[in-house]
Amino acid sequence: MQIPFNKPYLTGKETHYIYQAVQSGKISGNGMFTQKCQQFFSDHFGFKKCLLTTSCTDALEMAAMLCRIEPGDEVIMPAYTFVSTALAFVRQGAKIVFIDSLSDRPGMDEDKIEERITSKTKAIVVVHYAGVACDMDKVMAIANTHKLFVIEDAAQAIDSYYKGRALGSIGHLGCFSFHETKNIQCGEGGLLSINDEQFINRAEILWEKGTNRNEFFRGEVNKYGWVDIGSSFLPSDLLAAFLYAQLESLTDIQNRRKEIWNWYNQNVDILFSGFKFSKPIIPDFASNNAHMYYLVCESPEERTRIIAYLKERGIMSVFHYLGLHKSNYYKGIYDGPELPNCDRFEDCLVRLPFFYELDTETIANLII
Ligand SMILES: *Cc1c(COP(=O)(O)O)cnc(C)c1O
Repeated sequence: MQIPFNKPYLTGKETHYIYQAVQSGKISGNGMFTQKCQQFFSDHFGFKKCLLTTSCTDALEMAAMLCRIEPGDEVIMPAYTFVSTALAFVRQGAKIVFIDSLSDRPGMDEDKIEERITSKTKAIVVVHYAGVACDMDKVMAIANTHKLFVIEDAAQAIDSYYKGRALGSIGHLGCFSFHETKNIQCGEGGLLSINDEQFINRAEILWEKGTNRNEFFRGEVNKYGWVDIGSSFLPSDLLAAFLYAQLESLTDIQNRRKEIWNWYNQNVDILFSGFKFSKPIIPDFASNNAHMYYLVCESPEERTRIIAYLKERGIMSVFHYLGLHKSNYYKGIYDGPELPNCDRFEDCLVRLPFFYELDTETIANLII
């Protein structure tokens, strides 16, 4: 393949900051670069508190623990999402209530949430697919009426907005990913954003293996010990150093990605004139953080044809999620309705190569 689907971008300063971290002699978690990253996120996106994690999966696990999800609880989320969205809650014993996608885009159909709420429902997890916001006013209104927690799986949604508000700052908790396939990356990494103050103290404890180590270092207690459940959710400061280099280039990275996204959007009709598909839809309330560019083909056969057409020209394209309700792990447990829109995106959506250094001219020359 001449053009891969993804190629992680390096700003050039990553190794410089890692070197600094090594020189400082402190490379365990919650060091100087971790704090710089957390400060950056709070300043830029208005999170009340944030904690770096080793992945978005970890941030989701922390969210499930913070909401005290227990066996018997039900958690509502879309079926068209990554495994971790569900897994974090399943580990706590939750039953997952999967909701269908919208008809015109892969995001969750917010109008189907309320009918699935029962006395056991504890939380709604929204996924901002492709960095495009869910209708958060609708979701928060439902959650307020039924006293539910809202967790935003914002893994793909860094620097994206709903009616001007940063994604990850609207629900009670937000979870981001810095996996190498995301806009800003450090190989493996994540962030928990905390917007409801009631969670802040406990989040720090869960983060630090169930100890009150943070209170100790702030001088609030004179010794620290085991006070709650938790795990080792915090990354080494080496990874934070890498991530900080990326954050310094956030504007540049985002500008380039938006150029690529707009180029695709203006040119796919010509590039794929022999195929039947529709383009991504971005509602008025949502911004576009240029996380991915996808086409929704008219049929599975049409998708197979596009993927083969690109492959012949040295260009890698890939489909995306298999509906979690039909996964090997969950299909025996799932007892909800058919989810036809989710099935259609599973069968018909194809993602085109998308990364900072993508050369759109080469793509155009290869295709035409
Ligand atoms: C990437 C992704 C995750 C997992 O992120 P990790 O950092 O790899 O754990 C979770 N949810 C969604 C929607 C994702 O795109």
